[in-house]
Amino acid sequence: RLSLAYRTAKGVTVSVYLGDITREDTDVIVNASDSKLRHGGGVAGAISVAGGREIQRESTEYIQQNGELRVGGICHTTGGRLKCRHIIHAVGPVWGRRGHYSRHGIETLYKLLLDVFEYAADVLKAKSISIPAISSGIYGMPLDLCAHTFHRAVEAFSNSDDTGLTEIRIVNIDADAVGAFILEFCGAG
Ligand code: ADP
Repeated sequence: RLSLAYRTAKGVTVSVYLGDITREDTDVIVNASDSKLRHGGGVAGAISVAGGREIQRESTEYIQQNGELRVGGICHTTGGRLKCRHIIHAVGPVWGRRGHYSRHGIETLYKLLLDVFEYAADVLKAKSISIPAISSGIYGMPLDLCAHTFHRAVEAFSNSDDTGLTEIRIVNIDADAVGAFILEFCGAG
């Protein structure tokens, strides 16, 4: 099985593996969303189908009350029928659009990932989280850059004091993405 797992010095278990994120039993799963929370395709479509109508209903209500999310923005809904308690919807940068390429896009993703981990721990009081390779699918970020950005963010977060989270799972349905992440996390780990 294509997978990797290790424990950081602060006791956070980090794993990377091939799988369908909708089946994960962590407290939180993360959705790679668009800014209007329209869960049509990609991982958002899969989460919306597996989790039931409640997820899109809550999402639409959120947008009606608060307006669109910005790029790099996050919000949460319940997990609907999924095993997780909450879903964090996170809007990644589109590679190549409105200057969101090269360093700017990478830093937007980096900050987004730190925000996601902090939000899960501090706002949702989660201990465990599953996250897909945000921005690497329809949004087109090259896999090696996405993997490197995840690695930096996971290291920064999981080596800070009192993270709150004890487990971070990077779960992706695409074997090429998982391969790129394992290479990155092994190579520099
Ligand atoms: P984005 O628009 O942010 O690029 P996508 O939904 O297109 O988001 O893809 C993000 C990542 O999620 C991609 O690497 C894609 O292969 C992966 N993915 C798609 N469906 C699933 C799923 N059911 N479980 C885990 N990962 C998935």
